[in-house]
Amino acid sequence: MRVAVFGSQPYDTKFFDAANAQGGSPHELVYFETRLRAKTASLAAGFPVVCVFVNDEVDATTLKTLAANGTKLIALRCAGFNNVDLKTAEELGISVVRVPAYSPYATAEHTVGLILTLNRKLHKAYNRVREDNFTLNGLLGFDLHGSTVGVIGTGKIGMIFAQIMHGFGCHLLGYDAYPNDDFIKLGDARYVDLPELFSQSDIISLHCPLLPETHHIINQNAIAQMKRGVMLINTSRGPLVDTVSVIEGIKSGIIGYLGIDVYEQEEAFFFEDWSDEIIQDDTFQLLQSFQNVVITGHQAFFTQNALTAIAETTMANISEFEEGKPLTNEVKLPH
Ligand code: NAD
Repeated sequence: MRVAVFGSQPYDTKFFDAANAQGGSPHELVYFETRLRAKTASLAAGFPVVCVFVNDEVDATTLKTLAANGTKLIALRCAGFNNVDLKTAEELGISVVRVPAYSPYATAEHTVGLILTLNRKLHKAYNRVREDNFTLNGLLGFDLHGSTVGVIGTGKIGMIFAQIMHGFGCHLLGYDAYPNDDFIKLGDARYVDLPELFSQSDIISLHCPLLPETHHIINQNAIAQMKRGVMLINTSRGPLVDTVSVIEGIKSGIIGYLGIDVYEQEEAFFFEDWSDEIIQDDTFQLLQSFQNVVITGHQAFFTQNALTAIAETTMANISEFEEGKPLTNEVKLPH
């Protein structure tokens, strides 16, 4: 199949070409650095398959252009599908597939990386030692052992994260729209409602999908219920967090640490080099200026294992479509 791969980076090319070479009948992959959006959709003319990532904008206008130019399949090379207008896709007869699981370990482990960095102030310590400053003032941390960790969303990533934190000796509080027994079985873990999770947790980590009901799940009201000095971590999706309220929470001292791999308005600049430019997002720049905030640019998924799995599943998804088989990883509108 002819596949237009949008928003492609050198690592996408490397892992996709490798996975494509493994199959019996390789697909014709054409890489576009530009992201898919209404303005760039015409580049996909003549491509029955369009492959996209988290920040491509697969909205109604984009889908209409794609459909008019012969696209039949959107192959997401990620798990989340909040950037696709599924209703319009269905109306236009465009199927949507995704990679439901690649490496939950990658994202869970990065989450723990953010926690350790913030707690033990590794970001400051790294710079200090490079300047031959070996003082410890300002680097004081706390034992994770014995602290209470609130996990919002105990699915694949949330469960691995909970297992790791259990290994540190943390008490676990979970919140999920669909609780699962495996979380309880970890030991020292129980499901609670959100107010209890907010008020009892020393660390709160988000692992639920972005849905209308989870949009701004961390808002002014939620922050008001949290322990003073709480650590908030978001490696899931930016709009789970109301950034303006979080900034107020940091300024008032309720939020003592913030670690984010995702940001509400990340589409505007993540995955691109802005080091020679002026970023115009004042909210992001203010967030960056706080010493107790660590931001990474949507890299939690970024391990060799995950990229291999993403590429292999995407190729298999496209092959199923080409062969007219049922689509194992199809994303459908709930009816
Ligand atoms: P998953 O589907 O396995 O788990 C999501 C969990 O959230 C499920 O247990 C589900 O029941 C729960 N949930 C659904 N609605 C909820 C609600 N209203 N309130 C609370 N919980 C709710 O997904 P996953 O593979 O664990 O991924 C979780 C999220 O992580 C994804 O949605 C994606 O946004 C994000 N993610 C980020 C990266 C990254 O690189 N930063 C990588 C992969 C995934």
